[in-house]
Amino acid sequence: MRYDRDKLDKIKEWSSRQWTVFKPWFLKRWRSLSAWVARCWRVYSAPDNRWLTVPCTVAALLVLLVLVKSCQGIIYYNSNECKVYRLGYPIDEARAIVGVLSNEQIDSLVVRQEHDTIAYPLLDERYFIAKNFDRYLAFHKVKTEAPLTDVVAIVNVKGDLDRVESATPCDTSKGYLMLINGRHYLDKDYKPANLVPFEKTYTYEHNRANSAVVDAFMALQRDCKKQTGAQLMVNSAYRSYEQQIDTYKRNEKGYAALAGYSEHQTGLAIDVTSLQHPMRWPFDKSKEGIWMREHCHEYGFILRYPERQSHIFGFAYEPWHLRYVGTETARKVHDEDITFDEYYAFYIEGTDDKPLKR
Ligand SMILES: [Zn+2]
Repeated sequence: MRYDRDKLDKIKEWSSRQWTVFKPWFLKRWRSLSAWVARCWRVYSAPDNRWLTVPCTVAALLVLLVLVKSCQGIIYYNSNECKVYRLGYPIDEARAIVGVLSNEQIDSLVVRQEHDTIAYPLLDERYFIAKNFDRYLAFHKVKTEAPLTDVVAIVNVKGDLDRVESATPCDTSKGYLMLINGRHYLDKDYKPANLVPFEKTYTYEHNRANSAVVDAFMALQRDCKKQTGAQLMVNSAYRSYEQQIDTYKRNEKGYAALAGYSEHQTGLAIDVTSLQHPMRWPFDKSKEGIWMREHCHEYGFILRYPERQSHIFGFAYEPWHLRYVGTETARKVHDEDITFDEYYAFYIEGTDDKPLKR
């Protein structure tokens, strides 16, 4: 408190000193300016000088115009659009970039003095997220051959970041939409509510899952039987943290997650094969396996590790692992042919972004 009062006194003293210097300086200039204006006005308003009215008015307007234009020029020169334009982007590209990026991102682009050829095409990417802009550019410098769509997809799911350093706890408040992957983990004490057992007919061992998952599976297997004649079976569903430690040890590399990083701990994931094809790989090619992949979204499931995207994200293709996300999200993930990680990054985490240029 004492310190603040001292500081305040010093500021007061300093400003009164400045004022004593400034006041006479200002008054002197003000007096000479008003004397000059008064002299001009006398000349202008003298009856003999009426002819001055038009040229003086025109001159005054011209001076005003020049002043306004100069101010506009100075303001534009310091605008974000002009700063980006001066980096070498055509004006329409500069305008689009400024429309999407934040002031901080533009400042860092200007500081780096970079004219990046992918900056503008990036804005057209379907899943472009403005806050990831710098990371897209940085990642593309490392993977120059990668298509922009892959660059955006990988960066969106944090594939450009160190796996251990970027690991964050899963936001379980998202319910059916909670995200578990190599970078989002569950606490070892996390245990889902609403766990109910599957009917014995449809499971080899005692398996449990969230009640919504059990209901959705029953509808899925009923229709699968009608269409293909085969009976779907649940191989594995909810696994506790401790069970996952065992599963990780028993499974071949790449097909089981570390404890805490498995979707099975959420009670929302199931591994499915059929009575006719109980092994995972023949099931993949079986007609019920194909039917399940094509129709599971109608029941709220997604194929969590699809084949097409495995080369982009580096995960192993698992045609038997279904994840429940609800019918609305499942349909969107299926229709847009993206992974759940991409869906989460764009539709759940990336929603506070500025609109795209389109
Ligand atoms: Zn699984």
